[in-house]
Amino acid sequence: MSYDYAVIGAGAAGMSAAIILARTGAKVVLLEKAPQLAPLLRGFTRHGVHFDTGLHCLGGLADGDVLDVFLRYLGMADKVEKIPFRPEGFDRFRCLEPAWEFDFPYGWDRIADALSAAFPAEEPAVREYLRTIRDHYESLPYINMQAEFDPMQLLPDALGLTLGGFLDRLTDNPRLKTILSFHWLLHGVAPDEAPLASHARVAASYYGAVHGLRGGGRSLVDAFTTQLKAYGVDVFCGSGAARIDFSAAGSVSGVRTESGDGLGCHACIATLHPRHLVDMVPESLFRSAYRTRLKTHEDTCSAFVLYAACDGIPEALQGRNLILAPDSRSVCSPDSAFTRDPPIYVAGTAPDRARQVSPGGFTAICPASPTATSRWADTGTGKRPPDYTAFKEQVTMDICRRLDATCPEIMATVTDMELATPLTIRDYVHTPAGSLYGIKHRMGDHVLAPQTRARGLFLAGQSIVAPGVFGAMLSSVVTCGTILGHERLRKELQA
Ligand SMILES: Cc1cc2nc3c(=O)[nH]c(=O)nc-3n(C[C@H](O)[C@H](O)[C@H](O)COP(=O)(O)OP(=O)(O)OC[C@H]3O[C@@H](n4cnc5c(N)ncnc54)[C@H](O)[C@@H]3O)c2cc1C
Repeated sequence: MSYDYAVIGAGAAGMSAAIILARTGAKVVLLEKAPQLAPLLRGFTRHGVHFDTGLHCLGGLADGDVLDVFLRYLGMADKVEKIPFRPEGFDRFRCLEPAWEFDFPYGWDRIADALSAAFPAEEPAVREYLRTIRDHYESLPYINMQAEFDPMQLLPDALGLTLGGFLDRLTDNPRLKTILSFHWLLHGVAPDEAPLASHARVAASYYGAVHGLRGGGRSLVDAFTTQLKAYGVDVFCGSGAARIDFSAAGSVSGVRTESGDGLGCHACIATLHPRHLVDMVPESLFRSAYRTRLKTHEDTCSAFVLYAACDGIPEALQGRNLILAPDSRSVCSPDSAFTRDPPIYVAGTAPDRARQVSPGGFTAICPASPTATSRWADTGTGKRPPDYTAFKEQVTMDICRRLDATCPEIMATVTDMELATPLTIRDYVHTPAGSLYGIKHRMGDHVLAPQTRARGLFLAGQSIVAPGVFGAMLSSVVTCGTILGHERLRKELQA
């Protein structure tokens, strides 16, 4: 069977790219290594509770906002029910030592008012911060459809200031710096390393509005599945792409799967972790500097993730997340090994699709180095030794102790729990080390562009333009724009 396009990896990026290309009438095949589409968005059910894995809340989903426009374009907007988070505080930041908390609202004016009220002497710094972040965000061509089109702007900006450096220039107030930087947890690059522009394209999408989905990530996967079918995309799950073939003239000619099937195609969009791509193409295809860059690019942090079943969704987590920090320092400049207590991000489970009162729970994400479990790197899911189980029990107790100290009200309702480690994440979404958001977009690093030097081979996904569900979908829009023509795609999106 021969296709116009083969898309490798069926996460938010791969499914979006497949639909955008199939909409043009092209014949598209989508390959996913996991047994089902979109393992990271789909989540899992344990102890009668459905837990989301890679989607707790979304930015950019207000009517007419960018993600809403993307979903309309893909024909999915009417297939998901969005539920607004609390406008007066979608993220409650709570510090233990000294004890203080701040409710971070959404809506640009509401954020400015709340921060200026909490830090009256810092109002000019607050306004300067918000203006700069908004300018960076709204200068991006697919975010602002009227903006001048400059493809270079779509790449993560690795020059200029870091978030930490920018905040140092703006203010000496440590609490304000903490509040303005804790959203690095949404992209996994600490303030001292994160380019301000990269931080802006993730954080600002949440500053406009924040929503969850009824039924969580599963409902988004269902909407994608319906549209993949409607546009005639051939989907193969359970056997990943093993190799990309090239013609004698050096352009993509097909993809070979792990089970040995060959699929002809004229172009390929790879949305898997870029490090895995190196082993799928002939060695001579890329210059050695590019291969080295793909192989050695540092990953974003990983995490220990505690999934806790409760009688229902704890009240403290309805319409809001909690960010629990032992002190402000651990938020602004965590050490890269996360040996000091890092902040914990806690999200409630999504409201039930059947609109029934059902058991709920929460997910506590505790950033960790991808090397935290490397002692057991050679083991697979379900086959790990007893010392790994003992280690997990120790980490679980430690996270529970910290949750108890900062948020006893949610711990009081827990009935059962499970822990995922960097290895669980690695094996669940097939990344090299279990990073939360793919590779780091870090100050001074070379960035990966959607178009490679190999004819017909394109990249998309969270490692390319920006992380998060929105970032992954944006990356596919950018990559498909590179293939189909940016002006054409922008016109279609506007229409
Ligand atoms: C714990 C956690 C919580 C998160 N919470 C949020 C949140 O609340 N909001 C938000 O916006 N984002 C969140 N994210 C981030 C978001 O989930 C990701 O950035 C986004 O889903 C990435 O999409 P993607 O398509 O780029 O990658 P992926 O979803 O990882 O898709 C890549 C796919 O490629 C497949 N694959 C790998 N190798 C092969 C192969 N050889 N052949 C075929 N297929 C292959 C993988 O199985 C995978 O399905 C979270 C992430 C994590 C880990």
